[in-house]
Amino acid sequence: MLIKGGRVICPAQKLDKEADLLIEDGRIAGIGSFADQAETVEAAGCIVAPGLVDMHVHFREPGKEDEETIASGSAAAVAGGFTSVATMPNTEPAVDDEPSVAFQRLQGERAGKARVFPIGAVSVGRQGERLAEMGQMVRAGAVAFSDDGDGVRSSRLMRVALQYAAMLGKPVIDHCEDRELAGRGVMHAGYWSVKLGLGGIPAAAEEVMVARDLILAEATGGRLHVAHVSTAGSVELIRRAKQRGVPVTCEVAIHHLVLTDEWVKGFDPNFKVNPPLRSGEDVAALRAALADGTIDCIVSDHAPHALEEKELEFALAPFGIIGLETTLPILITHLIGPGVLSWPQAIAAMTLNPARVLGLEVGTLQPGRPADVTVIDPKTEWPIDTARFRSKSRNCPFHGWKAEGRALVTIVGGEIKHDARP
Ligand SMILES: [Zn+2]
Ligand SMILES: [Zn+2]
Repeated sequence: MLIKGGRVICPAQKLDKEADLLIEDGRIAGIGSFADQAETVEAAGCIVAPGLVDMHVHFREPGKEDEETIASGSAAAVAGGFTSVATMPNTEPAVDDEPSVAFQRLQGERAGKARVFPIGAVSVGRQGERLAEMGQMVRAGAVAFSDDGDGVRSSRLMRVALQYAAMLGKPVIDHCEDRELAGRGVMHAGYWSVKLGLGGIPAAAEEVMVARDLILAEATGGRLHVAHVSTAGSVELIRRAKQRGVPVTCEVAIHHLVLTDEWVKGFDPNFKVNPPLRSGEDVAALRAALADGTIDCIVSDHAPHALEEKELEFALAPFGIIGLETTLPILITHLIGPGVLSWPQAIAAMTLNPARVLGLEVGTLQPGRPADVTVIDPKTEWPIDTARFRSKSRNCPFHGWKAEGRALVTIVGGEIKHDARP
């Protein structure tokens, strides 16, 4: 297969030039100038990137298959340009042992869309008490550990988890949230929570756990990845820790880069996420941290919920929104278009960087690597319409927004898995 005449961007090779990309036997064969092949994808005017990697998604299998299955979730992934996803283990039951990791991997293979990399739970049943069998989960293919949905409340357990994870060469991904400080809050604590009369979650609820985990990572040498960083204070803590060599990486969710807490004023539960949408100053700090490399990765934190749950009033609705089919267009429209991020920066945050955090061989177009490629049309305008999503859920705050750009062709292992060419 030949992908012809696109702007090939590969951060791993510091490459950004117009070229053809040749694929043979499911692997990248070369970048340069080649004769047409049996299958040629015309990519003039398009970006040709390594297949996008979303290291933070929630597929609801097992347990809530009405909201998302591994098949529907990975179909949504390739439609959004993602060739690899890492799935959080807060299913019902939780993915906390060898068979459950193996089951998710198998379901991913059966679906045959995006590559599915399970993340195992830190604690048995995500109860925060006993350490799960991390070594056995790695044998079954777990790429990291997390009790996401909740923080690891016990400092002792977090310390032991980082020690084990270090031995296994895997990161611990922490959802940093101090439950006592978060209390019954439903949105960011600030001007808007007071004005709207809704319970607030202070920035400190996140920052105290970020600070604790940085200390524990530094003490143990275990690799910490901070999930969905949302405050200026967290960013500053991580920036300073990186400067002194603490083994830490972090990610930001796309919605925290484009939405502030002011959006909650319509009381639409599709703006209810955890961590909550923060202030304008926080959003500015997150954008600056992405641009200067303090934040490594951009994720969707794709969190499907059934319509009847999300139709509850704001205070009662569950936290979480879906994002696999909107992350790339929102990124192009609101961050790359206005010049907040360059194309190579944005591509690195969605390919090479998450692949490195998880130790995956994808995320690059180096010859010999798996031919996971996303051809991006950076220009076409289209209205985001949840009715057309492959995801089983519809809890998306961007419904009705105008987007510019999208995944045109998504290729996994040399096979076209999504094709939006006219
Ligand atoms: Zn989380
Ligand atoms: Zn999450």
